[in-house]
Amino acid sequence: MSDRQDDKRGPRRVPLLPLRDIVVFPHMVVPLFVGREKSISALEEAMGKGAASGKEIFLSAQRKAKTNEPIPEDIFTIGTVGTIIQLLRLPDGTVKVLVEGKRRAAVRRFTQTDGFFMVEIEEVPDIQERSVELDALMREVHATFETYVKLNKRIAPEILISVQTIEDPGQLADTMVGQLQLKLGDKQSVLEMDSPSKRLARLYELIKAEIEILQVERKIRTRVKKQMEKTQKEYYLNEQMQAIQKELGDRDEFKNELTELEDRAKQKNLSKEALAKVKKELKKLRMMAPMSAEAAVVRNYLDWVLQLPWGEKTEEKLDVIDAERILDEDHYGLKKVKERILEYLAVQALVKKLKGPILCLVGPPGVGKTSLARSIAKATGRNFVRLSLGGVRDEAEIRGHRRTYIGALPGKIIQSLKKAGTQNPVFLLDEIDKMSTDFRGDPSAALLEVLDPEQNATFNDHYLDLDYDLSDVMFITTANYLQGIPIPLQDRMEIIQLPGYTEFEKVSIAERYLIPKQKRDNGIDNVPVDFPEDAVRDVIHYYTKEAGVRNLEREIATVCRKIARDVVAKKAPVRNVSDGAVPGWRITCKRLPRYLGPHRFRYGRQEGADEIGLVMGLAVTMHGGDLLATEVSIVAGKGKLVLTGKLGDVMQESAQAAISYVRARAPSLGLERDFYSRADIHVHLPEGAIPKDGPSAGITMCTGLVSALLRIPVRRDVAMTGEITLRGRVLPIGGLKEKILAAHRSGITTVIMPKENAKDLRDIPKRVLKTLKVVPVEHMDEVLRAALMLPKPEEFLTEPSVPVDWRQPVERRERERSDRRDDPSRMPVASAVPPPSAREDGPSDPSGREEPSSPGEPPASSPDTNALPPYPVPRLGEH
Ligand code: ADP
Repeated sequence: MSDRQDDKRGPRRVPLLPLRDIVVFPHMVVPLFVGREKSISALEEAMGKGAASGKEIFLSAQRKAKTNEPIPEDIFTIGTVGTIIQLLRLPDGTVKVLVEGKRRAAVRRFTQTDGFFMVEIEEVPDIQERSVELDALMREVHATFETYVKLNKRIAPEILISVQTIEDPGQLADTMVGQLQLKLGDKQSVLEMDSPSKRLARLYELIKAEIEILQVERKIRTRVKKQMEKTQKEYYLNEQMQAIQKELGDRDEFKNELTELEDRAKQKNLSKEALAKVKKELKKLRMMAPMSAEAAVVRNYLDWVLQLPWGEKTEEKLDVIDAERILDEDHYGLKKVKERILEYLAVQALVKKLKGPILCLVGPPGVGKTSLARSIAKATGRNFVRLSLGGVRDEAEIRGHRRTYIGALPGKIIQSLKKAGTQNPVFLLDEIDKMSTDFRGDPSAALLEVLDPEQNATFNDHYLDLDYDLSDVMFITTANYLQGIPIPLQDRMEIIQLPGYTEFEKVSIAERYLIPKQKRDNGIDNVPVDFPEDAVRDVIHYYTKEAGVRNLEREIATVCRKIARDVVAKKAPVRNVSDGAVPGWRITCKRLPRYLGPHRFRYGRQEGADEIGLVMGLAVTMHGGDLLATEVSIVAGKGKLVLTGKLGDVMQESAQAAISYVRARAPSLGLERDFYSRADIHVHLPEGAIPKDGPSAGITMCTGLVSALLRIPVRRDVAMTGEITLRGRVLPIGGLKEKILAAHRSGITTVIMPKENAKDLRDIPKRVLKTLKVVPVEHMDEVLRAALMLPKPEEFLTEPSVPVDWRQPVERRERERSDRRDDPSRMPVASAVPPPSAREDGPSDPSGREEPSSPGEPPASSPDTNALPPYPVPRLGEH
């Protein structure tokens, strides 16, 4: 530090050497190559003055390295004044010069700009500072710099030793900064700091940043290196394996496989596009290592393409009479459905192309949808495939995954076609209503394309990445619920409903189809088994509860299996058949539990006695129709309504509507007008874990409520369905056929239904209607008359209900009006309380108006009607 002070000199004039892309710091020795003439002149000037100037030269960086002819503004004013240690002229006219930076200096002014720059400079001495903090900073900088040097291969480790010896903070910063690879701007900014502590702090930041970059670089380098090593290793091993295979003759096997694939491709009637693709893939495969993972992917792909049916078709039978015979052979009844199918087949036979809408069979499980589709296949001579769409929620399941995914496969459509083996099968898409959608895309969108005869000739599976022709496939879909099918899909299809079987139909199906079929399937074809009709009926009543016949078939199968076991065990038949000649099995009602266990269901679910507050409703469920018991109980309370049994919003609102109707009708029903405020009503629909919704339980709940309030039992052989309005009108409902069949199944004798639904009775088999009394109703009063155990129903609820008038009585209003005329300053006053006459019990109102339906409630209209003429009040519950 002391010689620095000695060296220090006042302002003086020195030549300037503008530098490109380098900042020279004090204590730095750098070689520079100088080519610009102006710069050479400056050097010569410095050398010329020789001893006097001490070969001094001012070294300052240009703001932009590209500037060739800098003007004073292009040069930073802060630079380093240095001395020339050595100057060497090179043969090409340029000069190599070794300079040593001495001290910071600032340009005061440019004294000469011609030829070369002469500048008047003034040295900028370091601010003298010393503190514990600065010492700490120096140590920290030392440590970081060491890390930096270790990470950076370009810096010689000796630098560390020389840096260790520097004690002056300013000099330390200047020496270190020269070693860093920094941007010109960063270096210049460090140079311009005259406070050593600031300089060190900045330097510390810069080194830290550099270290981070170096660490990332290093990480990348090692990763790349590892990858390279791995690929090299794999390559080497592959080469070795190939050599080994060659020795063992495996390569020949691969060649054989390739020729086999080629032959298969030739034999197939591939589309042009598919053939080109197969050829391309074969070429790729030839160049691959036989055992590599990529080869396996290509092989798999080729296998898929070549296993698919391309143009292979079964010959179609278009004989409608034959088709009718087959359908009748396999299925009992279903007249309308069969007719529709035959019409469909007739059209196909005439136009010779499947262009019509796709058939969609809708109905509960076990009504024969799948087996009908199978029969259609048989009748038309096509192969049959079935694809269940239940639970499919990913578009890729229909359309496949792209081959880039590991383990990719074609979609289910293509997979099923491979199974079918022909290009024109009957393709059953089962449970189309059970598809769902999630973030992976909508499968119904893919199905839309499949089912559209205009588009499906070029169906593109993601895996195959080829157009495949689906236009000869006869698609048939099935669903349990129409509502579950997306509307655009419904649009493409012709819906055929199969609502379920009556008991008579079930018995016939069992006797004619299911029992012979199960006997055959269980190998007891030639064993005499007597299964009388009443036993079949008992199976239907006590062991199954369904709209279709699937469980019935299962139960019959169980019986047949048990008989088969007896036959194998050579157990003597339980009893001889009636004529006593041939030993055989006779299944009687009494013996059924031996085969099938105790009764599983209660037939009819009719209650043992007529009960108060218990009503049978009718509902449509998964199994077709069903009885829906509704319980209402009333206890002392404060007007709370409790609804239980997982009721949906609509059902809850129906309950509210029913209660409002009863409240409005309270006087006519003989109820205390404020019964509501002193009782809690609980409505419960058993099988409480099953969610229920819909408006059609309205009249059921209302009947339960009236029965519970009046303590009149409900007839147990009555079931009902209908929506209720606030005025007690009964509105039409859906699913009448299912509901009536359910009532019939359950041994109900009277069904109360909305009058507007009477037209739907046409669809119901006459045999069923013969066993039932159907009561079409328009109003709730009729429902109550028919359902309650009344001694004289015709006398019940005969007087019309009259609404409460909430308005002020006329005389009082008149009086008030005249009062006001007397006292013009009086303002009209609003009253929120109904007039006393309307609040008191008894017929105090001379006009015959009724009490309010709910006392304590604010009146419906504003009582401040002084200036208004009276207006007609809507008559609640009128009929
Ligand atoms: P779904 O597909 O509607 O759920 P299935 O087609 O699987 O029902 O039918 C179940 C069983 O019932 C099948 O063995 C079928 O043969 C039989 N079946 C259904 N309806 C009839 C019918 N009308 N005549 C004869 N058997 C029937």
